[in-house]
Amino acid sequence: MPMTRSISQRGTLTGKPLIYGYSVYGTPLQIWMPEHNNVDVLVFAGIHGEEPDSTVLLSRALRSLRQPSSSCAVILCANPDGVQLGTRGNANGVDLNRNFPSTNWTAAPVTHSWNFDSNSRVTLSPGPRPCSEPESLALQQAVERLRPEYVVSVHSPLGLIDDPENTDLGAWFSARSGLPRTVLANETTPGSFGSWTGDIGVKTITYELPNQSVWDMLPVHLPILHDLLEKGPAVVSEEIPQIRAQHL
Ligand SMILES: [Zn+2]
Repeated sequence: MPMTRSISQRGTLTGKPLIYGYSVYGTPLQIWMPEHNNVDVLVFAGIHGEEPDSTVLLSRALRSLRQPSSSCAVILCANPDGVQLGTRGNANGVDLNRNFPSTNWTAAPVTHSWNFDSNSRVTLSPGPRPCSEPESLALQQAVERLRPEYVVSVHSPLGLIDDPENTDLGAWFSARSGLPRTVLANETTPGSFGSWTGDIGVKTITYELPNQSVWDMLPVHLPILHDLLEKGPAVVSEEIPQIRAQHL
């Protein structure tokens, strides 16, 4: 039996997600657990509400599986209020990716570029204290509970693989996607999810999708996420396909 569902079957998600918390607006925060609840990799998207493309691609990958993932837990949207509002932060205006209890957390305002071409900066809050926001607290607790070997955090649109631990999985993402592998300086991202998981020893790869439409990203990036969900960390032992773009 083929491992992928036919396109016509991919209109809806299968399986019942667990609820791992609630957003500021009371929206359930949902996690799709793997078969047998054995989590090697936690994959999440949509922590920045202005990056709904990360949620769409990860959802399409999950919808392409015939069976639940063997070893990956999936959070399609870590900041549903932000996606609903179209804002980077949550409903309180907090950048959740600066609200984690890392040793480098700071109360200094968070600035981020309004666009690629200018120095215009938008100011957001890192929250009054680490994990002040229900979305970041719930995600922190989920990681503590599941203790995955890897977390893959899907963002856009920088087009890179941030892999501070220099992992085999990070090398696989880079080889499959053609995106450069980097280590973003921790001082530029105080209180980020990756800073916190670095402190507690959970290997975290940030998969920054490129600045393209979802439609343009599908041939390269959907198969990558599909293969990760299907095979988990064992995917690194596969031969990298010569032709990167596939229509899945
Ligand atoms: Zn982001």
